[in-house]
Amino acid sequence: MGNPLIVASGYKFQITFTTSRRGYPIIVVSGYRFRKVTSNAFKVYWKCSANLNHGCRAVIHTLQDKTIIKCHNVHNH
Ligand SMILES: [Zn+2]
Repeated sequence: MGNPLIVASGYKFQITFTTSRRGYPIIVVSGYRFRKVTSNAFKVYWKCSANLNHGCRAVIHTLQDKTIIKCHNVHNH
């Protein structure tokens, strides 16, 4: 299977679903780590791990089955 290659905003990203050392779910995209921030019955919202320290606005939205529906992979760091 490998990792799905998705195309968003004209760019191709290698998306990896994994867990942090502390056991939290994270997504790794092009070396950037996204933390799960919230979710509802349908969607899961992920923010760049540098959101707190750098105010990075990069976000990913997925469905509960990990389908990528939004990938704003633009970082300020
Ligand atoms: Zn970032």
